Amino acid sequence: MKILVINAGSSSLKYQLINMEDQSVMAKGLCERIGIDGRLTHSKDGEKFQKDLPLKDHGDAIQAVLDSLTDKEMGVISSMDEINAVGHRVVHGGEAFSGSAVITEAVMNALNECIELAPLHNPPNITGIEACAKIMPNVPQVGVFDTAFHQTMPKKAYLYALPYKFYEQYKIRRYGFHGTSHKYVSMKAAELLGKPIEELKIVTCHLGNGSSISAVDGGKSVDTSMGFTPLAGILMGTRSGDIDPAIVEFIANKEKLSASEVINILNKESGVTGVSGVSSDFRDLAAASEEGNEKATVALDMFAYGVQKYIGTYAAAMGGIDAVVFTAGIGENDATLREQITEKLGFMGIKINKEKNNVRGTVDITADDATVKTLVIPTNEELMIALETEKLV
Ligand code: ADP
Repeated sequence: MKILVINAGSSSLKYQLINMEDQSVMAKGLCERIGIDGRLTHSKDGEKFQKDLPLKDHGDAIQAVLDSLTDKEMGVISSMDEINAVGHRVVHGGEAFSGSAVITEAVMNALNECIELAPLHNPPNITGIEACAKIMPNVPQVGVFDTAFHQTMPKKAYLYALPYKFYEQYKIRRYGFHGTSHKYVSMKAAELLGKPIEELKIVTCHLGNGSSISAVDGGKSVDTSMGFTPLAGILMGTRSGDIDPAIVEFIANKEKLSASEVINILNKESGVTGVSGVSSDFRDLAAASEEGNEKATVALDMFAYGVQKYIGTYAAAMGGIDAVVFTAGIGENDATLREQITEKLGFMGIKINKEKNNVRGTVDITADDATVKTLVIPTNEELMIALETEKLV
């Protein structure tokens, strides 16, 4: 079975064609500047092709993807008919989706109802689905939601202590994000440890541009750091993470800004960028810190301290912990930060082996005398979307 995975953003669209027989990526690429002018980057077998071509909307982009996949030079399939299904990343599934779903009219209606919850992300996701459905009407489409994995959280974890009517009327609650990644790495962790996932309590740390941490008990998400929006939880590249909500009004008054202008600052000018004034990229921060930049050092310390606290909190939430998993850009690559996060956690059995910690890829970095496993597992959201799609079609 060959599955096309689509991740549509407002002006970009990423794709991968995955052969499910050996889970290999046959080709992948990116359409950019959709609605502006248009550029396509396509790669297969390490060979890269780039061309400028008009992409006035997502329909054009999908057509360009199909043309590339079937192209004589760049292509990997002889016709579109070889694509058995399309799996779409959808950011917000609200409370309507606790798993992935084959796209039907009813599903599209439910998705449209979720726009309010993710006004920036869901519309392009929906547009991508509509464009595929139009161009490939006979190919089944599946929606895979960032929020779905977290729908198993108990009420005590997902409710906010606001008047209950706000949950009932407006669906204000913790939803959580990066669910596809948390699910994938927790499954992989169980595989790596050779234990049924039902018997494991895992804290998964997805640390990338956006970061979130989850408590996965018996294969189910029971708590997660992001909330009603992906602004919540740990501080991130440019996002503040949790702050005292009263600060919003305080800044608004002092700086003569509206609430939404302040929220924009919390989303785009805060986090490690805001604290350090250097960058959102942890490599830049490490370099600046090395050169004696104290703000860069404190930003890195805040991040490590934040993750350290979440690991403790979620171990307590689950009443135990068998494994910690690090994934995504920072989690997979930043050995120094992994060391910093775990260095005080020996009391709870978490200790890492410094040599193994410097190895790349999927690695068990647990120290010999630790009682809790620490694993580095590269995330693969595209493969997870393809696996979910295969399961449903
Ligand atoms: P997203 O998918 O959310 O855009 P990623 O998971 O790819 O983000 O993470 C990107 C971030 O990972 C970069 O901003 C950078 O901070 C961090 N990163 C990538 N490589 C390294 C590295 N070698 N060392 C430290 N941090 C890294």
